[in-house]
Amino acid sequence: MRIIADREACIGAGQCVLSADTVFDQDDDDGRVLLLNERTDSDVSGVEQAVLLCPSQALTLTDD
Ligand code: SF4
Repeated sequence: MRIIADREACIGAGQCVLSADTVFDQDDDDGRVLLLNERTDSDVSGVEQAVLLCPSQALTLTDD
């Protein structure tokens, strides 16, 4: 699976980093999400949790 992060929608809450810190980070300047890895294979359950917890629905999982 692949993760898509919408930085315009992101409000910098940081839930994604707490859920999967091998996939997500936060920009030092604006706090918005940064993708460390587009592929979710390293932590599928953590990424799924991040998608559910993100308060701005900025994260999307795709099957490709
Ligand atoms: S959980 Fe959502 S709003 Fe918070 S930093 Fe991650 S992508 Fe942005």
